[in-house]
Amino acid sequence: MLSRAALQQQCRLIRRVPCHWQHSGNNQTIVVLRWNNRRWLSAKSTPVVEKAQTQQQEGRWRSSLRRFAFFVKMLRIPALGLSVYALGRQQGIIECSRNPRLIEDELLQTILMDVGVKDRSQVQIYSSEDSVTLAATSVGILQSKTIRIGNDIVRCASLFVRKKLAKAIQDVKDKQPSDVSQEDFIKACHKDENFAYWTQALYRVEGEDPNIPWKYILIDSPLANAFVTEILPQRFFVTTKMFDDYIENEDELAVVLGHEMSHLILGHVSQRNNLETALRTVEVLLLSIDPTEGLMSLGVIAGLAWMRGVLMASFSREHETEADELGTQLAAMACYDTKRGSLVMKKMHDHQVKMSGQPKSNSDSHLLHLLDSHPPSIDRYEKILKQSETENPQKYNSQCATIQERMIQAVWGGRGN
Ligand SMILES: [Zn+2]
Repeated sequence: MLSRAALQQQCRLIRRVPCHWQHSGNNQTIVVLRWNNRRWLSAKSTPVVEKAQTQQQEGRWRSSLRRFAFFVKMLRIPALGLSVYALGRQQGIIECSRNPRLIEDELLQTILMDVGVKDRSQVQIYSSEDSVTLAATSVGILQSKTIRIGNDIVRCASLFVRKKLAKAIQDVKDKQPSDVSQEDFIKACHKDENFAYWTQALYRVEGEDPNIPWKYILIDSPLANAFVTEILPQRFFVTTKMFDDYIENEDELAVVLGHEMSHLILGHVSQRNNLETALRTVEVLLLSIDPTEGLMSLGVIAGLAWMRGVLMASFSREHETEADELGTQLAAMACYDTKRGSLVMKKMHDHQVKMSGQPKSNSDSHLLHLLDSHPPSIDRYEKILKQSETENPQKYNSQCATIQERMIQAVWGGRGN
């Protein structure tokens, strides 16, 4: 039996093990070792203290193992995400290289189903060269008009992006020393963010081959919609309901198509997808480090989903404003009356006000609808109207045809307005 003083010394020798003294029933002194704030050991002699030392050592190992397990747990989520992404990408590449046309067809089917297409007979696909042929028929005037105005918007979009790209290259050149070599200048261009942005924009508008014409997909649908998509670029999608409810003249169609083209130029879909992916990754990481082992997760999931919704909505509003501005400019560059065209936004707003409070039918509620992704407001209409004071055909007079030429073109091309 060690003396009390000897036991105290032993106890002090054990790092980070607090000891407490107690007296047993027969008046013998025992030492109680508090272990890891949880476990208690009783000791009367040195062997027990040694046992405590051994257990402390084992505890360190367990602690290290726990830390390692936690590290692995943390690591597996990004690793899993990376693996799934790599696998999906690889599969995508394999599938695309096997049959790119098949993938394109499948994507088209999915997009068409999203706008309520049940039968392929509801869909008409035209090339940008079909305008003249259709104008000669009595039933092809609407199609001809859509293709012709679409072609005008595509031409101006291409011009706009090329100018921006030329400006980005000039800006890089201005920053270089006068004796810069061509090789270094090219390298500097490829490092420049602005150059990269407008190069991608040009690719989205013109594709790999500028000689491949845009396509126009007219959909006979009870839902009003008009859009372009990055996943299947160089296609304008417009539903017949857009003409029934909102678009009454060429200027309105030009403003709508200009707006949609602007989303493509500015890469809004990619930006939205990137933000959503980043937010979801943060959600997964936060949930994975939840120290309450899942209890907190219930509240966190709801909170994070709400926060994501708010951020995405704010991002969308910003995108809509940008697309309104550039869309109006493109319509003006294409020589359409933007003041007259802006009325389409007012009609969409008035329709929304009229329909508010009326329940959606079940069959329509899951379908992609223009007003869901483009909430109209009187504020948007007023902004476009104000912009039309400066962004109008007069500003681009040198590019626009004369009134007489446009009139001749209108009659020749089946223009009814
Ligand atoms: Zn939009």
